[in-house]
Amino acid sequence: MRCEECSDKLDRYVDRELNDTEALQVQLHLEGCPDCMDHYEFEAHLKRLVKHSCDCDTAPKAFREKLRQILS
Ligand SMILES: [Zn+2]
Repeated sequence: MRCEECSDKLDRYVDRELNDTEALQVQLHLEGCPDCMDHYEFEAHLKRLVKHSCDCDTAPKAFREKLRQILS
């Protein structure tokens, strides 16, 4: 799996919406790729933050994109 594919799927991986095969592919990629692992940890952390602060789905997405831009 390439990093582009991994980051495409990362969002759904964090949400546990991938099927078993895809989840495993992402997991294997993460274990071998520190960059994507950083990305994953960031997403997972953010997901927890967003869950605590807001229940709606659209605002956090925009907020997350903004944060990602700031941090990247
Ligand atoms: Zn990668």
